[in-house]
Amino acid sequence: MQSPDRPAPTPPAGDGAAAPKKVFIKAYGCQMNVYDAERMADALAPSGYAETQAIEDADLVILNTCHIREKAAEKVYSELGRVRELKQARAADGRDTAVVVAGCVAQAEGPEILRRAPAVDLVVGPQNYHRLPDLVRQAKSARVVDTEFPVEDKFDHLPRASREKVRARGVSAFLTVQEGCDKFCTFCVVPYTRGAEVSRPAVKILADARALAAAGVRELTLIGQNVNAYHGDGPDGGAWTLAKLFEAVAHIDGIARIRYSTSHPRDMDDELIAAHRDLPALAPYLHLPVQSGSDRILAAMNRKHTADDYRRIVERMRAARPDIALSSDFIVGFPGETDADFEETMRLVRDVDYASAFFFKYSARPGTPAATLADQVPEPVKSERLAALQTLLDSQRHAFNAATVGKTTDVLFERDGRHPGQIVGKTPWLQAVQVDAPRALIGEVAPVTITSRGSNSLFGSLVESSAAAA
Ligand code: SAM
Ligand code: SF4
Repeated sequence: MQSPDRPAPTPPAGDGAAAPKKVFIKAYGCQMNVYDAERMADALAPSGYAETQAIEDADLVILNTCHIREKAAEKVYSELGRVRELKQARAADGRDTAVVVAGCVAQAEGPEILRRAPAVDLVVGPQNYHRLPDLVRQAKSARVVDTEFPVEDKFDHLPRASREKVRARGVSAFLTVQEGCDKFCTFCVVPYTRGAEVSRPAVKILADARALAAAGVRELTLIGQNVNAYHGDGPDGGAWTLAKLFEAVAHIDGIARIRYSTSHPRDMDDELIAAHRDLPALAPYLHLPVQSGSDRILAAMNRKHTADDYRRIVERMRAARPDIALSSDFIVGFPGETDADFEETMRLVRDVDYASAFFFKYSARPGTPAATLADQVPEPVKSERLAALQTLLDSQRHAFNAATVGKTTDVLFERDGRHPGQIVGKTPWLQAVQVDAPRALIGEVAPVTITSRGSNSLFGSLVESSAAAA
């Protein structure tokens, strides 16, 4: 921890007084960051901070950052420029604003952030945010950087959200079961920013899951950078797998659906595939990043699987759960990627046929082995490949959605829709569906016939028996 010299900012408005303090938290990047942002709000609640969606009202501004690609990291610095102006405008009104940079940019760049961004009071890494209340207090007298990997488990020190807060966040919740990564793909910063792979004990996860269910959560997404590498201590003393954890979560009253993200192909074992066959609560959806369809590139990425290994996993998964929808991440323009390598990626995409996907241009990340490789791919070539891949993946997504029209499927209703009288839910395949239905159905699973599709969501009508029961 370090505290470079600087005049002390005055405490945020209301500190120690009756006026409530407000915190604005913005999460960038992955689901893990969204989850961490909620836990930061929970950590600060006992110190009297209430969340606000209006940054100009905030006494405390937290940017929970992402370092995965250069663009993501640069976005933070441009946002910090805007935050600085806001801080100055509030100061002119006699209001103080404390500014925190959290997450993976904080971990990777540490004190450099204080140098580049004068508005920042505190820099805190992803493993340290349970200390936020103390750190915010310390930052009132001198700027603070806390990016050490602590010996204690942050989850043991984080208060649970109140029932009201859980309810306000909705019927679908994330729950971290595993953090960090030991895979060291040559393009990726995660092992450096999030640290070594650690699985939380099953008992603690199940206690959190029960508390969420008791507050009204119906769908749980178990998350981790490498979630299917989960091997936490079980209540019986042995190590539990992710499949075993699913089974226990499926028995919790109120939990209707279980999802998980993100998985690595190397950890897709028989037990996990069988869970998709045997557990009705486990949604028929698998996000399984492959990155490339070329074995040469996969080896250079240190993925430790081939394209055919991946095809075989997909075959086994479809044999176990024929209606499973597949999703993936792709990187185009990894150093040394030729047209022939890229064509192998396109071939894999055609073979697998995805329901949805994420695709990125390779972005050299400082400190990763691939960043120093000689044969970096020119930007225009990356753009051309990305456009071709996007066209193919978009056509597969549209075809997948079109195939849902006319089907009747269970929808978990989550929130109000765009128009009065409409509510929105999700199919088991993670498609958003807008339905004219009573608000009383929010939090319920009901059968819906899909009638048509728009560009981002489906439209459906309630099957009559559910409409009558509501
Ligand atoms: N753990 C997951 C896995 O093994 O695939 C994903 C982790 S990462 C947060 C999400 C995605 O970002 C990766 O799957 C990859 O496609 C992409 N990504 C990571 N590093 C990248 C880089 N340097 N350039 C472009 N995309 C990158
Ligand atoms: Fe990054 Fe690879 Fe680990 Fe995924 S498996 S987090 S891509 S190093």
